[in-house]
Amino acid sequence: MSHQPIALPPQIHVFVRDWLSSNNVLLKSDDGDVVIDSGYVAHAPLTLSLLSTPQALGSGPLAKLVNTHCHSDHMGGNAAIKARHGCPIAVPEGEVPLIDAWEQQTLLLAYADQRADRFHYDEILKPGASYVWGDLEWQALAAPGHDMGALVFYNPEHRILVSGDALWENGYGFVMPPEIDFRALPATRATIEMLASLDIRIVIPGHGEPFSDVSAALERAHSRTSAFEADSHRLARHALKVVLSFALLDKRRLALPELPDYVARIGIYRDFNRLFFRLPPVELARWLVAELERAGAARRAEGWLVPA
Ligand SMILES: [Zn+2]
Repeated sequence: MSHQPIALPPQIHVFVRDWLSSNNVLLKSDDGDVVIDSGYVAHAPLTLSLLSTPQALGSGPLAKLVNTHCHSDHMGGNAAIKARHGCPIAVPEGEVPLIDAWEQQTLLLAYADQRADRFHYDEILKPGASYVWGDLEWQALAAPGHDMGALVFYNPEHRILVSGDALWENGYGFVMPPEIDFRALPATRATIEMLASLDIRIVIPGHGEPFSDVSAALERAHSRTSAFEADSHRLARHALKVVLSFALLDKRRLALPELPDYVARIGIYRDFNRLFFRLPPVELARWLVAELERAGAARRAEGWLVPA
């Protein structure tokens, strides 16, 4: 997919990150700067320094931190940003009970061997409400599926969507199979249909560059969803590959001899293996390694699995 530079209103700055940290979207205003999503905890120092560059905040304070949803790669830097800037944190209403309980499965923490620094939120964002950030009006729209409490933020004036993990240029964040959460896949389809009903010119996704060929992205999301609906094993395979790739980026390398014990111990692999694969852990680990190699995401090096 080729990328023309996308012309955004001057107060919107997108820090395009990677697959470990979500993008950070900075919305500048004389009334106070707002940032959407804070990246992964291991990258918190980098996030702080990106935000402190002269073209970002400079020496000025941050007025607010907002989350599209509360997975570890979007809220992992919340505590560090709040400690640095003393700013309030606003989270989607649907995430509040999970944050209150610091729930390890749905927030994708210990259940997926991911981490985040615990934080306290100050404001609750409600689906259907509108907020003014960066002198622009943003409609908060419920976008359940990948995360059942997720919001997207839509600016009708410039027809810009901040989509989090609900829509990427090529797909969306992995969705729990019906055997784990029966609501997730139907919600994913409903969210794609909701997004297709909006007049969107530019999407600023949670991962990857902003893009403008929105109808093609929606079409890909639509066909991916149909394939998942036809085969929940496919959903399970996809999710485990994504989660292991993430662990590999987080830890930088995984000892191959320890992988069978790892997939037997970490909740998401254990549960998915019991529900879908029913493989000895050594077989599940071998299959995952082969899949990551085949996808070009990882390679073997002297007893280690490393990012390719
Ligand atoms: Zn996510």
